[in-house]
Formats: sequence, C-alpha cells, structure tokens
Amino acid sequence: MIWTRLAPSPTGALHLGNARTFLVNWALARQRGWRVLLRIEDLDGPRVKAGADRGAIEDLAWLGLDWDRGPVYQTAEMAPCHEALDRLGRAGLLYACVCTRREIEQAQSAPHEDEEGEQGDGRELRYPGTCRPEPATPLPPSFRPADTDSALRLRIPDEPVRFFDQVRGDHAINVQRSVGDFIVATKAGLPAYQLAVVVDDARQRVMEVVRGDDLLGSTARQMWLYRLLGIEQTPRWWHLPLVLGPDGRRLAKRHGDSRLARYRQLGVPVERVIGLLAWWSGVTDQRSEMTVEQFVTGFDIARLPRGPITFTPEDEAWLSDSRNDRPMMATTAGA
Ligand code: GLU
Repeated sequence: MIWTRLAPSPTGALHLGNARTFLVNWALARQRGWRVLLRIEDLDGPRVKAGADRGAIEDLAWLGLDWDRGPVYQTAEMAPCHEALDRLGRAGLLYACVCTRREIEQAQSAPHEDEEGEQGDGRELRYPGTCRPEPATPLPPSFRPADTDSALRLRIPDEPVRFFDQVRGDHAINVQRSVGDFIVATKAGLPAYQLAVVVDDARQRVMEVVRGDDLLGSTARQMWLYRLLGIEQTPRWWHLPLVLGPDGRRLAKRHGDSRLARYRQLGVPVERVIGLLAWWSGVTDQRSEMTVEQFVTGFDIARLPRGPITFTPEDEAWLSDSRNDRPMMATTAGA
C-alpha cells in the first residue's frame, strides 16, 4: 500500500495556490491508487492560528477531496521526533545554538548559493556555524533545548546531495553552502519542520510527496535527515510550480483575497474553482466549469505546465462574477 499525504499548515486559510497543489496531489493519488493521509502540520507554534485546521478541512471537503486516514495532528505525537533528536544527538550530529536571527543576519558576509526553487520571498539566511563545536561532540542524553534557550542544529557536510524529482528532474544541492547547518529543534524545544516532516513521513509510510516547488531546497535538507537517521527508503518527490500573483511573487494576501473560504461564502460554484485549477494544471485549454471527478479523469501530469502560473484579474473576475450568471446558486449557497 502506497501512501501520500495532504499536509496543510494551519497558519492561515487555504488560497487558490494551495488548492491547486492539493487537488493535483489528490488526483495523482486517485489515478494511481495511493492512499491519502490528511496531516495537519501544527508544530509551528507561534504561527498557528486558532480554527485554521478546521477551515482547511472544510475547504478540502468543499473542493470534493477525501482521505483514507486522518486528520492526524503533528503535535499529538511528538515522541518519535524526540527519539530521532536523541539519536542524532548521541551520534554527535547536533549542537546547541544560541544565535539570534539578527546575529546571523549580521554575520552574512559572502553571498551564499541560492537553493534551487526559492522564489525570492522564501529566501533563507545561511548559518555560518558560529556555535558549531569542533570537533563534533555528542549531546548529553538529558539535553533539552528548551531548558537552555537554544535551538538544535544539524551538522551538514560540505557536499551536494542528489535527488530526482518527478516533475523537475535531477537536482544536486549543497545544503552547507546554501543554508548551512539548519535547525531541527526550535528554542521552544519543539521539533522543527524539516525534522518532523521526515520522521512523520517515514513512520506514516508516506512514499509519494507532492508539494509546491518552494520546498525543493528543503528536500535536500530532508534527504540529509533520511541519510543521517539511517532511513533507507526516501519518498518520491513531485514538486509543482507555484501560483504567483501578477507581480511575479508567490500568491499571498497582498494580491487580494483568494481564500477558498471567500469564494465559498460568495456562493461561487465549486465547479468554477475546479475549472480554473484545471486550466492551470493543463487539463483544459480554457476556463470551463468542471467537477472534481472530471478533473481526475482529465488530469495528466505530463501536461502540467512546467513554469509558474499567474493568478490574473481575469481569473478573479471569472470566479467572483460567476454569481451574476447563476443568481439561484448564489442565493442558495450563500444562505
Ligand atoms: N505543511 C507544509 C505547507 O503547508 C507542507 C510541507 C510538506 O509538504 O512537506 O507548506
């Protein structure tokens, strides 16, 4: 049995860009017989918004997606992450870091290699290794980052890691030169995204990871974690080009309100939304209404546009003006 996962972060509402990634992920699963796990990635403490998990679940269900397991919440089961941290710590692969973001910013001297796939607004700083002990030293078994107000970083060798992406092909990324030793546990003592995603994907037997290509660079970090944790089987990666705003930046609030919840509240028929996402995914050559079942039948990963998609004012008009075409639906759905 092959598993994939839909992994929304409850840090905000799902917008059209998220919807497109989830719909393609789900359609691949339904075409290929993968099981779907719904995993709520709620570890990002300060950014998690109350009720955003429920909102994401409602939005996915409104689109017509379903899942075979879940929702499971990352915070509900953190012991496997702590075991992984203990293991890495004992092996001398972790160290405590007390640097602040400001200090790291100030230490950026040489320009660092860009990770492939970063879209500009997601750019990360390179950690220069200020707290890295030489030689490597095992962490004491009782070490808990929260007690010391330090984060834990992973020692990353200065060599490229290679992986194949089903959509974007071969990649070789040197993590040490792009972001340096990265954080695997936060100052609050919580497992960081990179660690949690690897530990959870491995134990939940997720073998197909479909997500936005802003995470291509993270994939290299995750490949290191698989290797250093001794997990032999890594998932297959499918990184989808992102949806951008008219200014070429990743779709976000600054481009207007493209939340699914808003279209739902406006009474926009879901077939319009699916139809737009289908056009963006190479299923049709123009915007036309479509059910989620028709999307699954018509979707072909080979025809997925390889470059980013732009969400235009015409797209917005096609969605929100549709209420005028269908006054009956607008009143009933909005009631
Ligand atoms: N939770 C992440 C997000 O919403 C996805 C992480 C992943 O797919 O690995 O961006």
